[in-house]
Amino acid sequence: MKLSTFAIDDKLKKAIADLNYEIATVIQQQAIPEILAKSDVMARAQTGTGKTAAFALPILDKILKQKTAVNEISCLVVLPTRELAQQVNSSFQAYSKYCQVKSAMVFGGVSIKPQLEQLNEGVDILIATPGRLIDLLQNHDLNLKNINTLVLDEADRILDLGFQKELEKVFEFLPENKQTLLFSATFTDAIYKVSKQILKEPVIISIDQNNQVAEGVEQVVYTVDADRKRELTSYIIGSKNWHQVLVFVRTKQGADSLAKEMCKDGIKTSVLHGDKSQGTRNKALSADESPQNED
Ligand code: AMP
Repeated sequence: MKLSTFAIDDKLKKAIADLNYEIATVIQQQAIPEILAKSDVMARAQTGTGKTAAFALPILDKILKQKTAVNEISCLVVLPTRELAQQVNSSFQAYSKYCQVKSAMVFGGVSIKPQLEQLNEGVDILIATPGRLIDLLQNHDLNLKNINTLVLDEADRILDLGFQKELEKVFEFLPENKQTLLFSATFTDAIYKVSKQILKEPVIISIDQNNQVAEGVEQVVYTVDADRKRELTSYIIGSKNWHQVLVFVRTKQGADSLAKEMCKDGIKTSVLHGDKSQGTRNKALSADESPQNED
């Protein structure tokens, strides 16, 4: 499905065409029509799925439709970290490059003064981490009474970082009547609890991760110097007494030399790669006990 088929402002379409976005990602296909229809949305989607454009494009369209001469904050995006704030802010800026829409960020760890100055100049979209947002709200430096869209981006990470109390406090400062969009990589009990507090009859969207690990598979990372990788591999296989193990390496040569070394360590090892005949490969795969590294 092409992004140009969505009923969003032509200026937004022009900006995303500049970025070479043509086909809508799965989350965009599912979320954009719902957000344009003003529904609350609860979406399970990870970074990399195109989730930012999935909420930013319909939000910008909404702002363009309702915009008056003054810039006042109508959309609040709450997210866990400064890095994500910067990413989301640059996406909003890129998508609104042909529009008069202003976004600003507030996050902790830096002076509050320049952030306040920017807010005083007038802003349509505020992108904020919870701690700094609470500081601003409690000091009465910020008025959120005109918010009509709230986004909780990476909501699970907001909670993981211990911002639940802050988040609930922020909710108290927001008007009752608004559209709320919650994006999270996982739907935990804590996320459902937040969703019950803030979402009204949400449309639930769940994007399967392409790189999901099959059930029952555990992933472990060992940090090791390159010249000790072979030793560690042999040690793990030997000490755990594993009998059927697939080891993936980057090059054919690497496969040959690793297999030779592992044989020296007493582990029966075969090699499979493009330089091996089909017969040898079949034999390696069907052997009950792998043959020694033979050709
Ligand atoms: P996100 O999941 O929002 O962090 O987006 C991941 C990346 O995909 C970002 O670099 C976006 O610029 C890019 N992106 C988002 N939507 C599209 C699209 N429809 N076509 C091509 N790239 C996209």
